[in-house]
Amino acid sequence: MKFGGTSVQNAESVRRAVDIVYNRYSRQDHLAVVISARRGVTDRLIACAESMITSRDADEVADLVTYLTEAHLNTLKEVAPDFYQETCEIIIRRIENLRDFLHAVYHLRELTVRSRDYITSFGERLNAPLISAALRQRGIPSMVLDGCEAGILTTENHGDAIALPAGEARIKSRLEPVIGHSVPVITGFMGCTEKGVVTTLGRSGSDYSATIIGAALNADEIWIWTDVDGIMTTDPRMVPEARVIPRISYIEVMELSYFGAKVMHSRSIEPAMQKGIPVLVKNTNNPDYPGTVIDGGEKKDSRVVKAITYIDRVAALTITGAQMVGRPGVARHIFSLLAEHQINVMMISQGSSEANITLIIEANQVETAKTVLFPLKERCVFRDITANEDVCAVAVVGSGMAGMAGTAGRTFSALGKAEINVMMITQGSSEVNISFIVSQQDGPRAVKVLHDEFNLMNEEV
Ligand code: ADP
Ligand code: ASP
Ligand code: MG
Repeated sequence: MKFGGTSVQNAESVRRAVDIVYNRYSRQDHLAVVISARRGVTDRLIACAESMITSRDADEVADLVTYLTEAHLNTLKEVAPDFYQETCEIIIRRIENLRDFLHAVYHLRELTVRSRDYITSFGERLNAPLISAALRQRGIPSMVLDGCEAGILTTENHGDAIALPAGEARIKSRLEPVIGHSVPVITGFMGCTEKGVVTTLGRSGSDYSATIIGAALNADEIWIWTDVDGIMTTDPRMVPEARVIPRISYIEVMELSYFGAKVMHSRSIEPAMQKGIPVLVKNTNNPDYPGTVIDGGEKKDSRVVKAITYIDRVAALTITGAQMVGRPGVARHIFSLLAEHQINVMMISQGSSEANITLIIEANQVETAKTVLFPLKERCVFRDITANEDVCAVAVVGSGMAGMAGTAGRTFSALGKAEINVMMITQGSSEVNISFIVSQQDGPRAVKVLHDEFNLMNEEV
């Protein structure tokens, strides 16, 4: 079971999470728990660490320390009074360690990727002892393990590390002896390299921690506890009529999360999919509701389109020049340079005249991409490169559209009727999604129009 940030943000929500664990524990289920940082803590850690590079004084550190101490200890006092003293000491020691690290960043005026990961992992590291104490208060034997101690081994790409297969045996050997006698509470979001250097798994990475651990243990099920009733037809914050999808396939969730549905980390599906383990997404505030089951999707649905998603922080990079026409290798040059600089290309389109290539990347990587590609312009591989940041990506997702004519037609005629201009279109060969680019201003409306067009607010028939 993984509990997200909103599911463990105060005494009330922690108690609900403990009830959920207790419910399964009392039926003698074997459980492991993965825990996120409290809501907002990771953002504050990142903001403070980054500001230390240029800050005139280190006052912000003191503010952060006060906030973290109060937030964690106040909740601890309420949910685990009998274990307050011992747990309080652990939490305070960790906060002091964090403070020293932030001061080091301030004095050195340098935040390396390693330090950044070490610092951001504290959100989970402060929360895990609290949750474990709350479980013990309820009579459930429990211990704390950080992601590295639990055996999660990762690549060295800090900030967005990927789990290595070698971790599997390690996770098994460390957790199997514990599970059954006790409910281990594992800090999500973090792992470490072969050399023991702390890494983080990307924002929202606790989902990924849960599936890495669930898969290594060959769990029967992986439960993701969050603040909505399940995976929905679109972000309920954008379209209030959005509905819970009772069942969805691994591939569909991968596409949804890749195209911005924040409900699951985009890589988190893979470990579960490889082992065929069902993932349940459920609401901590409404635990009896069945939620969403994510599985292999063997059962065919009546619905062709399942969900609509949206990402607003993207930019379209257009590379033009008649010199690219009929010249092999141009795309290879462009993509290898972008890859070397860790720039992720989300969508690609090339006109058949070959005189331009448009790439969709994250908005905050535009300047790096332009700098990295500039030498190709100097060598006349292309003529010009322009960026449009006033765009967003929308994707229509559903495995039912594979081999079925008409979804693209319906999508674009609905957008046409609503006078929404589509700037670029791509469809993966898996045919699980159709994605396209519109102006920022049109994004939310496009989502709403398509949600209506495909009747997603109504129950499946
Ligand atoms: P947690 O802290 O539990 O990991 P997140 O905030 O990361 O929770 O993810 C849950 C949020 O994802 C929901 O509150 C919802 O606003 C958002 N969300 C975006 N797209 C979807 C979707 N298609 N289905 C459900 N939730 C979505
Ligand atoms: N705390 C991390 C984040 O905010 C990981 C997670 O919550 O899943 O990104
Ligand atoms: Mg999340």
